[in-house]
Amino acid sequence: MATRQQPDFDTVVMKFGGSSVADAEKIKNVASRMVAMRNSGRRVVGTVSAMGKTTDGLIDLANQVSAAPTGREMDMLLSTGERISCALVAMAIHDLGCEAVSLTGSQAGIETDAAHTKAKITKIRADRVLEALDAGKIVLVAGFQGVSPETRDVTTLGRGGSDATAVALAAALGAACEIYSDVAGVFTADPRLVPDARKLPRISYDEMLEMSASGAKVLMLRSVELARNHGVRVHARSTFSSEEGTWIGEEGMEQAIISGVTHNEKEVVFTLTGIPDVPGAAATVFDAVAKHGVNVDTILQNVVHGVAELSFTVPTEDVPLARVAIDEAISTLGPMKVEEDHDLGKVSLIGAGMRSHPGVAAKMFRTLADLGINLRMITTSPIKASCMITKGEIPTAVRALHAAFELETEPVEEETIRG
Ligand code: ADP
Ligand code: ASP
Ligand code: MG
Repeated sequence: MATRQQPDFDTVVMKFGGSSVADAEKIKNVASRMVAMRNSGRRVVGTVSAMGKTTDGLIDLANQVSAAPTGREMDMLLSTGERISCALVAMAIHDLGCEAVSLTGSQAGIETDAAHTKAKITKIRADRVLEALDAGKIVLVAGFQGVSPETRDVTTLGRGGSDATAVALAAALGAACEIYSDVAGVFTADPRLVPDARKLPRISYDEMLEMSASGAKVLMLRSVELARNHGVRVHARSTFSSEEGTWIGEEGMEQAIISGVTHNEKEVVFTLTGIPDVPGAAATVFDAVAKHGVNVDTILQNVVHGVAELSFTVPTEDVPLARVAIDEAISTLGPMKVEEDHDLGKVSLIGAGMRSHPGVAAKMFRTLADLGINLRMITTSPIKASCMITKGEIPTAVRALHAAFELETEPVEEETIRG
């Protein structure tokens, strides 16, 4: 996807999530925020998600009428949610005396690959959006969707995908990017779980990538990747107030060792036992898994007496595909025992300062041990430590880790070293 050479912060992409457009009153509020921005002299591209829990409702409906809905029809269905909210916001803007036009992802020139329900944006042909902006209109682009030039079919971008629409549009237009939601920014933990979680003034792309990948759904993972790859500074902020939110960019909070604690309850652990301990066995399993577009996160392999045991985590929504992939691997490798554990979830600590401060993981394990919480799988990276634990223990674990690392208090600057 190309990035515009000259940034043009006179243009701003304003993205509002599902809870921000959940009913008629909220839609009018979003319309008035866009109009206020337009009246301040800036060109406005609005991206909205489907109203409230519309997408969940549509997925339920599809599963009621079919045991295995095809990806193509799923995308035809799911893309309607964003079209509805987009058209409604445009109507509300008209009533406030501004010109607006709503566009589907396809009409807005958002091109993707052909991977239904998890497509990646490959290109934005922004001419139609630019023409409408030049004509003084507020341009509403339906989030979470595009079109594959290869198949000419409508695609969707994966759950939370309107964030990716917004960042990709900002990159293509060289515009500023504001992501509005029901929280005032990125917090040290999910504020729904930890009431004294603190809003971060800024966070680096790398830390935000880890936060999103490990469950902080305030920004979709792919949107952060796009932002980093195209150098888009994202401002995550509240729909319901004008306070400053969190800036996601190159710079994080240098003085913080830990930026946040995240959790994810939407993962399933697969364990395969009795795998032959030969070169290529793991490759066969993960080739099959990758072929079906399943995103695997934590992987653990253990070899005992010449037989391997392999555990890995898969997002809940990818479980049916993972089962198909594992069956394919079994047809190559021979029979093995397959178990699924739906009762585990993950807690993670994220912080760039972990690189230079050893002992973070040890303190994390000690904090969880003191609560009698058993750790089932552990993974670490230079800026993340994650533990799989029983789902029911997640709220207690997140609150305890937040308190143990004193995340509710602002980190103090380390003393300046004088020469
Ligand atoms: P939208 O519908 O606007 O896209 P989402 O529901 O996708 O919003 O994301 C916002 C939600 O993310 C919040 O309501 C909050 O519960 C959750 N969340 C999880 N972790 C965090 C975090 N660290 N900071 C802020 N919000 C978080
Ligand atoms: N409506 C879609 C979802 O619920 C996309 C989004 O909200 O960004 O996942
Ligand atoms: Mg979202």
